[in-house]
Order: sequence, then C-alpha cells, then structure tokens
Amino acid sequence: MIKKIRHVLGISGGKDSTALAIYLKNLYPQIDMEYYFCDTGKELDETYGLINKLENFLGKKIEYLRGANVEMPFDHFMKLNGNWLPSSPNRWCTSKMKLEPFEKFIGNDLAISYVGIRGDEDRDGYVSSKPNIQTIFPFRRNIWSNEMIKNLLNNDNINFIVDTYSTITEQRDKLLQILQIVKEPLSPRFSQTTKLNALLSLDITLFNKVMFLYLHTINAVVGQLDKFPLVGNEDNLDKQAIFNILLKSGVGIPEYYKALEYEVNGEKGIYNRTRSGCFFCFFQQKIEWVWLYEQHPDKFWASVAYEKEGYTWIQGESLLDLIKPERIQKIKEEHLKRTNLKSKRTKSGLLVDVFKNDEELGCVSCFV
Ligand code: SF4
Repeated sequence: MIKKIRHVLGISGGKDSTALAIYLKNLYPQIDMEYYFCDTGKELDETYGLINKLENFLGKKIEYLRGANVEMPFDHFMKLNGNWLPSSPNRWCTSKMKLEPFEKFIGNDLAISYVGIRGDEDRDGYVSSKPNIQTIFPFRRNIWSNEMIKNLLNNDNINFIVDTYSTITEQRDKLLQILQIVKEPLSPRFSQTTKLNALLSLDITLFNKVMFLYLHTINAVVGQLDKFPLVGNEDNLDKQAIFNILLKSGVGIPEYYKALEYEVNGEKGIYNRTRSGCFFCFFQQKIEWVWLYEQHPDKFWASVAYEKEGYTWIQGESLLDLIKPERIQKIKEEHLKRTNLKSKRTKSGLLVDVFKNDEELGCVSCFV
C-alpha cells in the first residue's frame, strides 16, 4: 500500500513564509497543504493579526503548535532552563518551541516540508535531520536541500545522471552540453556549487526531473510520489517578488514591517522591525529595540521584566541603559548614517533595497 505523504508549511508570521503559502495555493491548488505556526506566546499582536488574515485567504486553519500545553510556552521553558535567558549560543527557545513541536506534529509520517528561503538569500533554511521529512525550497531555482544535491552529484552517480539525462532530453545540442558538465567529476577545481549552477543554467526542469528519478532510487520522500508538480517550477523569487505576492493577494505586508519615521538632529530616518518571532528576540538590532520601546512600550517593558543583574537580552547592555535619551539619540544617529549610506549605494532608495541584508542574521526556523 502506498503510504500517504503529508505536505506541510510552517508560518512564522514573517513575510516569506506568508508569501510562500499564498504562492503555493495560487500555483499548486492540488497540493493538500497543512499549515502550522509554532506559538511561543510572545509574538507581536501584528503577527497574530497576519496569521488571521492568512487563514482567511487560504480558507484553511493554521494549526497552532505549542512546545508545552500552557498559554505561555516561553515562560514555561525558561523556568525549566533555570531562568536563563536564551542567547545566540544557547538557543533552547528554538529547539523547545519550534523544532521539537514541529517534529512531534509530523511524528513518523512521511512529509514534505516547504520552506520560504528566497532566491536572493545566501542561507539554508532549517532542514530536519529526520529521514521521513524532506525539505523543499520553492522560491529558489534550486528547490532541493544541500544534502539531496550532495547525494545526487556524488561522483559515483555520474553514470546514472548521464543515462537519465540521455533518456529524457529531446534536444541533442542541449544534451551534449549537459553531458559535458555531468561527466566532469567533482574536484577541488570543479565544486558541487559550480556543477549545480551550470546544470541549472542549462535547464532547471530537466535537472529537477533527473533529481526526481534519483529520489525514486533512494526511496526519499518526494521519490515516493508518482508526480511532483514542483519539478516544473523554474521561479527564482527575490524580496521584491515576495512583497508583490503579499500586496496582490490582499493579505499585505506584516504591519511591523512598515516603515515609520523618526527624527534625529532635525533629520528624518525610517525604522521598522525586520523579522517575525518573539518581541524580545536577542537577534534584533538595537534600532529595533528602540522601535519596540517607542511603538510597543508594553512589550518593551515586558522584555525589561526578564532582565536581571548580569542577564540581559543584549550582551553588555541592559534595556534600561539602552533607553537613556543620549543612548537612543546615538542609536538613531548610527542607524540613519547606515541607512543613508546604503540608500546611496542602492540608488533606488526603495525600502526593499534599503533594508536588504538587515534581516539576514538570525534563526532559520524563526525568521522565514
Ligand atoms: S524568535 Fe528569537 S527568542 Fe524567539 S524562539 Fe526564535 S530565536 Fe528564540
């Protein structure tokens, strides 16, 4: 009996995962998608608002997953962790509130997990190490995980790849070009990335067909399907494309992402929050803490309440020190200088370009 394969998409409350849900529903309505949201109990109200709007658009429930059956999972796990605040090197928050609930939600079922890493990002999304879960990245021209690419392009598979391309490629000229690349073994001079990019540049769909047939041979999750519609997906979507999907759908851009003006030394700057996740996330920039203080004072003071002598969200600086007027002034001055410089470099002055890279540090599970 063919086992049922689940299709799952995690909504982080950020723009990319939201846009991915819209994109896949529009392009592949035949995929019976399950949506989930790992709730820490400490998100901004705007995030919950966005999830409600998205539910309406999708016409389907987004399942709330909580690491513990309590209203405030974060507080529960912090207590279990000896009241230590999470930090970059000690991210118990991500494993307890995002990864473990997700893996429990899937259990031993076979599942394809769709992740919204964009074509213009130089990072890998969260890829589960469990063999019953396969991750797919529909916004990138390479939709496969690095592990699958590594398996396929292994030098031991050259004959398989040659035979498969030869069977499925109709244009002889193209086949000759492809085979020249395929037959060149990986070496220090010819890396996996170079080989992959060369093959994708010649034909994305053909490469995906070869991968799909290979996945059958190793019994990978996607290989257990008769058909996988994303084999024919050749899109490569950047941040501007994501904004367009959100705006066109009517779901809109997450409220916290909208640019607000601040003034410093008579000059106007713009700030926003650049990512979803807990309002006190230690990955946020100092200007985002200032934004939180000025735009959501209740959430800021709730964050302050977690700090104790020697335990602060930002290394070496307490939130009470950060909101001293002279410190806020300095943070805004530095931020304005940085954004002016970036704005000059990008020339377009568009918000999408000015904020480019601001969001790229951080957690691949929380910020998608
Ligand atoms: S958003 Fe930040 S604080 Fe919250 S779970 Fe993710 S990494 Fe931890």
